[in-house]
Amino acid sequence: MEMLESGLIRMSDRLYVLPYEEKTDRPNLYYVKGDRYSVAVDAGNSKAHVEKFYRALKESGFPLPDCTFISHWHWDHTFGLHAIHGLSYSTKLTQDKLKEVMKWQWNEEAMLRREETGEDIPFCNEHIRMEYPDLKEITVTATDRIVSEPVSLDLGGIAVDLIPRDSTHSRDSLFVYLPSERTLILQDADCEDFYHGTVYDQDRLKDMIAFFESLDYDYHCLGHALPETKKEALKRLYQCKNE
Ligand SMILES: [Zn+2]
Ligand SMILES: [Zn+2]
Repeated sequence: MEMLESGLIRMSDRLYVLPYEEKTDRPNLYYVKGDRYSVAVDAGNSKAHVEKFYRALKESGFPLPDCTFISHWHWDHTFGLHAIHGLSYSTKLTQDKLKEVMKWQWNEEAMLRREETGEDIPFCNEHIRMEYPDLKEITVTATDRIVSEPVSLDLGGIAVDLIPRDSTHSRDSLFVYLPSERTLILQDADCEDFYHGTVYDQDRLKDMIAFFESLDYDYHCLGHALPETKKEALKRLYQCKNE
């Protein structure tokens, strides 16, 4: 890994990442560079986040992504959707959930009410207030297209496999697997489901571990941390299993 002057981290000639920022809970945004097409993973948490990503791409001399794949519905990965270049793709569950979130109101009263009903969690609202000093600037849009089954795309010189499936973090996950880079981009997928308590659901964890073990890769690319090796990730996840 190497940090470029533009602020992107180069993971390979084909894979770059704008690193996560803890303060406003901005996740890693990934960029996969093919000879004919380029794609991004996740839209970030605001227009400002997307603009920072695109500025770094331009400074690196890279074209803007032709499309963006959304890993799951959470605000920090989707509230920049209205500002992206090209179409966005997600699972149907993500799209449906975003259509619901589009109806949410953004003021203190509505946000606190959602914490009471469990629709949203304090951790999100705290960071949303940091990213959006003016809550009126929040614009939520749904994704344009659905990925309903595993599909492999050829970007020219690199294949991207999209794998929609359940995860321990949310029901609507989309995994992005890059066989030639020996990389799995999973963003938050192997975390706990914070909307349903703070411990792992053991059945979902078992299923996820089996999924990771079934894939041939080395780099486990997370949403809010630097990439791990698959070995480190599995060690961490096995420690979360009750046995
Ligand atoms: Zn996240
Ligand atoms: Zn998340």
